[in-house]
Amino acid sequence: MLYQPSMLAELIFQINKIINDNADEITQLDQVIGDGDHLVNLQRGLKALDDNADEWSKLKWDVIFQKIGMSLLSTMGGASGSLFGTLFLNIAKGLKDIKSIDVNDFSHAFNLGVESVKNRGKSDLGEKTMLDVLIPVALCLKQGVENKTKLVELFTNIDHAAIEGMESTKDMLATKGRSSFLKEKSLGHIDAGARTSQLIICCIVAYGLKQK
Ligand code: ADP
Ligand code: MG
Repeated sequence: MLYQPSMLAELIFQINKIINDNADEITQLDQVIGDGDHLVNLQRGLKALDDNADEWSKLKWDVIFQKIGMSLLSTMGGASGSLFGTLFLNIAKGLKDIKSIDVNDFSHAFNLGVESVKNRGKSDLGEKTMLDVLIPVALCLKQGVENKTKLVELFTNIDHAAIEGMESTKDMLATKGRSSFLKEKSLGHIDAGARTSQLIICCIVAYGLKQK
């Protein structure tokens, strides 16, 4: 496994940095088609992870993902808090008791996590949410494993899938979450949760590529 629990604090630091570097844009996105609190919700969640990262880095990935999920559920708030929390709790379930996690195991667990977000949000691809990033990334991982794609290529594909998915939300009509109240007025704006999901995924991928 490329990612070791000992890297947790650094990974969370990098994710915090990328979110803070894009703070104004994220707030603006949620102001136009939401209620403007997505950045603050996410920063609250990330701070709690940062506070615990050193302690959790001594644990195994399945337990770490579970702690992350519980922490996000209890600290973040907003629709995104329960959805990100659900994602991590179900990734944890998918990784339970696996000794040495490989890309196949992670793909399986991530797909399970994304399915649970779909169920929790009662939403799917094309509804202008974080799922427009999460679903293509889950599919990309699955296909990568099936095709035995080399890791660097797989990482590049994931990076592209996340960016394409985020951009695709711009021309979508929102049918779930607060932005759905705006109907046609939601057209022409990227979804905030799709943008933060993409930033986080691209950050994790970039960090992984540096370990190669
Ligand atoms: P809130 O919408 O409660 O203010 P946030 O602003 O933190 O919460 O998060 C908003 C983001 O959550 C949206 O940009 C969207 O990506 C995601 N979201 C909201 N509702 C759903 C849903 N039903 N399914 C999937 N994602 C959703
Ligand atoms: Mg909001």
